[in-house]
Amino acid sequence: MRESGYSEAIRRLLRPEVGGLPAYDPGADPETVLLDYGLERIVKLSNNENPYGISPLAAQAIQQRLAQGLGRYPDPAGKDLCRALAQRHGIARERIILGNGSENILELLCQTFLNTGDQVVTQSPCFGLYEIFPLMMGAQVLKVPLTESFECDVEAWCKALDRPVKLVFISNPSNPVGTAFSKTELEAIVHACPDDCLLVIDEAYYEYAVSDPSYPDALKVLEAQERPWIVLRTFSKAYGLASLRVGYGIASHIGIVEALHRVRTPYNVNQLAQEAAVAALEDNHHLQQSVALVSQERTRLTTTLRDEGYRVATSLANFLFIDTTVDASQVVQALLREGVIVKAWREPGFETFIRASVSLPAENDLFLQALTRIQTPA
Ligand SMILES: *Cc1c(COP(=O)(O)O)cnc(C)c1O
Repeated sequence: MRESGYSEAIRRLLRPEVGGLPAYDPGADPETVLLDYGLERIVKLSNNENPYGISPLAAQAIQQRLAQGLGRYPDPAGKDLCRALAQRHGIARERIILGNGSENILELLCQTFLNTGDQVVTQSPCFGLYEIFPLMMGAQVLKVPLTESFECDVEAWCKALDRPVKLVFISNPSNPVGTAFSKTELEAIVHACPDDCLLVIDEAYYEYAVSDPSYPDALKVLEAQERPWIVLRTFSKAYGLASLRVGYGIASHIGIVEALHRVRTPYNVNQLAQEAAVAALEDNHHLQQSVALVSQERTRLTTTLRDEGYRVATSLANFLFIDTTVDASQVVQALLREGVIVKAWREPGFETFIRASVSLPAENDLFLQALTRIQTPA
């Protein structure tokens, strides 16, 4: 009964789509690593979190909520947060959907729009959930590879979109690579999308990329489009609220949001998250400070690693995609023994790559030192 894996009896109960689902890899658990290797310190560079954590204003909002009590259900409509976001973006409140992290919205989009056999197009390598959620619904996922030099292959995208596609997932900047589609590339893809497909632009790392002149703000590119689209943002990355779970989507049509409301659980965003997010939006100083630190360290890490002979993609996000030239899971294991957690990229074709978050200077140094101790790139 306690064996892992599905017994015959369980397998008979399962939807076949679920039986075949791959597991999401969240990276190693810090506590376990600490105990397993008898370490005193862990550097966690596996989840692209903000090392500065949440804004003091958000912390204050949480204290206040705690003082007022947590015994009641959260506002099911998330009115205050929706109002603040609508104002921030200059759009109608009805076009905003909140999620328990933007992951929740990715899941809702698949549950709401995908039928068995529907086609989904995304990029390769890609965020694991762009594959897991569609597969869960019985849809098929076609992945358009980046070029060898980590660039968008517009021609391959146009070819992939020349068929009945239901959903398109684009992460801009890309997780795990960190590179971004240019405005021209994004426009070409938007143009190539069938009119009856829903285009999902996931801007989880928007705040890190937006100051780069080559980075296109999807809301600006899409606003004039008649077609259905949704842009996703999150409070988990640059805003540092990862543990609270809150993200949002801005949709082209109110009808998209209305459909997602019917599918979501009524209280999907908890009250602490709603109130902390409103406060975090107000704290531009904290956001800018976090982003500035990451940009500086991103440049330093990229240069250092390239000088040491590593191939590193030019990242606009808060992580780096690094070719170790050997089996990345071996490198990840060796780094764990040194107290550094990064993620091995298990996707076919990228087995030699690791993804490492950019963190505080001292933590980044520990990562660089540990990497130098365990290997030199071929
Ligand atoms: C981190 C991440 C998210 C999800 O973040 P939430 O914590 O669920 O808001 C979504 N998309 C991409 C590409 C990410 O990297």
